[in-house]
Amino acid sequence: MITLRSGRRWLIDCGRQAPDQLHDAGYSWHDISGQIITHVHGDHVFGLEDFAFSRFFYGKGEVPSTIESGHGPELIAHSAVLEEIWQTLAPSLRYLRDKHGNRCTGTLETYFDVIRPADFEPPRENQWRHSERFVAEGFEIVTRESEHVPGKPSCSLEIGVSEDAGGDRIAWWSGDCTVDSEFLKAIEPRTTVFFHDCTFVDYPGQVHGFFDLLRALPERVRSKMVLMHHEDDIESHRALVEAAGFRVALPGHVYNLETGARVE
Ligand SMILES: [Zn+2]
Ligand SMILES: [Zn+2]
Repeated sequence: MITLRSGRRWLIDCGRQAPDQLHDAGYSWHDISGQIITHVHGDHVFGLEDFAFSRFFYGKGEVPSTIESGHGPELIAHSAVLEEIWQTLAPSLRYLRDKHGNRCTGTLETYFDVIRPADFEPPRENQWRHSERFVAEGFEIVTRESEHVPGKPSCSLEIGVSEDAGGDRIAWWSGDCTVDSEFLKAIEPRTTVFFHDCTFVDYPGQVHGFFDLLRALPERVRSKMVLMHHEDDIESHRALVEAAGFRVALPGHVYNLETGARVE
């Protein structure tokens, strides 16, 4: 969850555990202004149907239902990812009735206020645009193609954290991807904090951030990096991880994205 200076809250991804995790943390879907999606895998999108339906049919407090207001939560995703989001949600969200009770067809726009990119970079590695930049109320974000499952639309995120317009400081979020050392080194000077997915299990055709490659990054990158561990055995690796200068993300932790410091 990202909390903006205005107090508005956005989610990065919405996996199969997200509805329960949000509830356990004391929030409801109506506390969320917008949703960013990095890519379509179950641990990143399987909570979206619940979000869409809950907001569509029910209002709460000062937040009216989407049916009532005509506006859903905002949604940001790279256009190649957006297509796959609808492919996974359509079998649930497509079937609706209009106010006269006649059958009609829902689309992603029926449920979400989909934000379109302000600009983009042309394709590089894949058929789809290399990056797209979005401007939302209170922040800017770049979704950039990353190497996850070869050929699959999947993005890392560059979240603008400068308070002044025109500032280029970012907080970086990996989504799921392999370690792109050259890229990470290149963006380090303007990055306050990196959140990188991490695994200790290597195999041919690795699709995640393998720890040995993360550990080989220069100290200036590692000291700004928070690892998001895929397996449940982080405690058995903690000494090694912390000796290499990394921090470890766990549920409930809070970071100030402007400074990169952990505050809770
Ligand atoms: Zn994942
Ligand atoms: Zn994935």
